[in-house]
Amino acid sequence: MTTQRMHLVQTSASADDVESTPTVIIGGGQAGLAIGYHLQRAGEQFVILDANARIGDTWRNRWDSLRLFSFPRYSSLPGWPMQLASFPTHNEMADYLEAYAQHFDLPVRSGVRVERLSRSDVPDRLSRSDVPDQLSPGNGGFRVETSHGELRANRVVVATGGYQTPVVPDFADEIAPGIQLHSCAYRNPSQLDGTVLVVGAGNSGAEIALESIRSGHPTWLSGRHPGQVPFRIETRMARLLVPIVMFIFRRVLTLDTPLGRKVRGSALKHGTPLVRTKLSDLQAAGVRQAGRIAGVRNGLPVTVDGVELQPQTVVWCTGYRSDYSWIDLPVTDAEGTRSPRVNHSGPGSGRSVPDARHGDTAQRPADAGDLGAGRSLGRRS
Ligand SMILES: Cc1cc2nc3c(=O)[nH]c(=O)nc-3n(C[C@H](O)[C@H](O)[C@H](O)COP(=O)(O)OP(=O)(O)OC[C@H]3O[C@@H](n4cnc5c(N)ncnc54)[C@H](O)[C@@H]3O)c2cc1C
Repeated sequence: MTTQRMHLVQTSASADDVESTPTVIIGGGQAGLAIGYHLQRAGEQFVILDANARIGDTWRNRWDSLRLFSFPRYSSLPGWPMQLASFPTHNEMADYLEAYAQHFDLPVRSGVRVERLSRSDVPDRLSRSDVPDQLSPGNGGFRVETSHGELRANRVVVATGGYQTPVVPDFADEIAPGIQLHSCAYRNPSQLDGTVLVVGAGNSGAEIALESIRSGHPTWLSGRHPGQVPFRIETRMARLLVPIVMFIFRRVLTLDTPLGRKVRGSALKHGTPLVRTKLSDLQAAGVRQAGRIAGVRNGLPVTVDGVELQPQTVVWCTGYRSDYSWIDLPVTDAEGTRSPRVNHSGPGSGRSVPDARHGDTAQRPADAGDLGAGRSLGRRS
């Protein structure tokens, strides 16, 4: 169902009759909705544009058994906490986000993809006195070209998240015919055939490998073990420990502290530790560990130690890449990722250590070489 709600915010027509609004938020995920909540409280006029047909679709489209590993309290947005006692399923999270937007009547326009963001040279009628110098948009503000027409705005918030373009290595094409899919396309074990190789041993890889073997498929899990949270998150102990851990993440391990910067560097390099699935779970279930897949020989994936594997199915849990190619402003670096000048709203951009989830590690600079050379499987939404 496409819910393109054309909210009537106090927009005005610019000189050439293009709709103008003070602020456009691009992306209606957690970040975009939370920013919308705060702007609404401040009495600001804005619209949220989101490419998905429904708010929450990013979560709806994740695999069937996915349950968040963050407590409801930490998965909630400001002003209206989730009313759940246990970890939300992916659908519960999606429905919560949709209900949140409705609860606050946030001016969301769903099914609207921003295709280009640039400066506008056409003067509009809105006051621009409060536009910060940083990224000052010129006389006409910003030009936001979308799949449903154009807008002008004085301020634009890019809240498009870090999970835009799934990535697999280039050599995936050389693997002999069989099933290959990225974790973003994985839904359940009915998609798997025979022996399964899961590439990428982060949280996504570990969870999918466990599900694979439990559904009867001999399963390899390739990649370096990123470490693990030293307690079970469903236990009473976790309820006591998690608030302390969260406090440390939010107040101590921030980008403002040397320790926080060090931990961030390590997390980006080695991936975040396994949260729900433990190494012992994988071993007990019989998941076989393999080294990182370094290439292909005779149509077979080969590990860094030269071991050839013979899977019928490969599930790439090798991460995502940000895509800012549609932003025609000097805000990205040579690789097309955000430069320090961009105040991106997403995880890793704020002052705290990023909550890179599910070991989908393509955002890690250390992997950027490998994965930058990889090919993308296209958009998921
Ligand atoms: C498999 C998986 C499991 C995860 N589990 C957890 C968890 O348990 N707990 C946790 O805290 N985090 C988890 N995360 C991370 C979490 O999903 C992100 O941190 C969070 O969603 C980021 O929110 P966001 O609003 O920045 O981006 P997103 O939620 O990705 O939202 C971005 C929005 O922007 C829209 N968009 C993108 N491009 C455009 C465009 N050009 N025009 C218009 N709209 C656009 C998209 O439609 C989307 O709705 C998980 C991630 C993955 C991949």
